[in-house]
Amino acid sequence: MVRMADDNNVVRCANPNCRAEMGRLMDVSGVDLLQMGGGLCREWHGVCAVCGKEFHWSVRDQAFEKLLNRIKKS
Ligand SMILES: [Zn+2]
Repeated sequence: MVRMADDNNVVRCANPNCRAEMGRLMDVSGVDLLQMGGGLCREWHGVCAVCGKEFHWSVRDQAFEKLLNRIKKS
């Protein structure tokens, strides 16, 4: 699974030749939400405005990714 956010919590396009900034992760009471402009999203499905690559994000995927990272570290 490709890590969605970099160390500055910036979520970027999954296209390695694009990497346009899509939004930012916001920690709200321990839950990572995706900030897109003025909105905080639990889920977001769309395409990159720069290259057109499909982009899917959800809180559930985030929880899964954290679980995987925890397993890898232990
Ligand atoms: Zn893109």
